[in-house]
Amino acid sequence: MSSDFSDKLLQFEAFFFDGDGVLYKENTILPGAKELLTILEEKKKKIFVLTNNSTKTREEYVEKLRNFGINVNINQILTSAYLTAKYVSETFPRSKIYVIGEQGLKQELERFNLEVLNNWEEKDSEDPFDFELRSVDIVITGMDRKLTYVKLARAMNILKNKQVRFIGTNADVTFPTPFGFIPGGGAMIDILEKLSNRKIDTIIGKPKPLMFNEALKSASVKNNETIMFGDRLETDIVGAKNVGINACFVLGGASSLSDLEKIAKTFYPDIITNSLSDLVHSL
Ligand SMILES: [Mg+2]
Repeated sequence: MSSDFSDKLLQFEAFFFDGDGVLYKENTILPGAKELLTILEEKKKKIFVLTNNSTKTREEYVEKLRNFGINVNINQILTSAYLTAKYVSETFPRSKIYVIGEQGLKQELERFNLEVLNNWEEKDSEDPFDFELRSVDIVITGMDRKLTYVKLARAMNILKNKQVRFIGTNADVTFPTPFGFIPGGGAMIDILEKLSNRKIDTIIGKPKPLMFNEALKSASVKNNETIMFGDRLETDIVGAKNVGINACFVLGGASSLSDLEKIAKTFYPDIITNSLSDLVHSL
């Protein structure tokens, strides 16, 4: 990292952080995360967490971060589950939804007065056809660590009806854990696209502009006053650069240095660091 940039870093007004692979991996906080956020808070910077992870509610993220000793409020958290619920409630109000996803996603949808038709933990002992397949307006897909055969069978048959919309929270195929990678929300989309022989209609999370624009609006800052910290090039970094936000690529998570060649030069990050801890030491 150039010393120029570390001088410049504290000139930004707003700091957007990805969660998984930047601040933490599952229940382990990553080195430097707490220290950097503490410095930024002392300097009255605007801090937002922008995560494609759809498995938790925003309240659960506030709690998760508090357990790491990081104090943020609910308005500083943007998740793909929350934004999917907000988007669907504004665009297709009062829809009936079939969800491939976890409790956090279902709860966010219900908070926006959307009806989750499968609001229980479906077991493979259930009959896939013993379900109101025809009453569904939208299938919403997020990461689902309890994905079952019966859920896939139901979603596949619901999606045969081309009137049903097919919306994904995010397209991340993999998900970093402290022990390696596991399948992410994008993998669920890929399976369903294959099974239903159709393409997803809409994806909400990064790299789409929606989450970045919501955060800019909430922070009341301009894109050039803002920097995004991300570990996944094709979502965090490409998405940020696409809307004119500066980007810091944090190594050790979803993407590696050699992945840079897979993205266009116009989307290259402004700064690359091995960890937030390195950044803290350079300040
Ligand atoms: Mg990440």
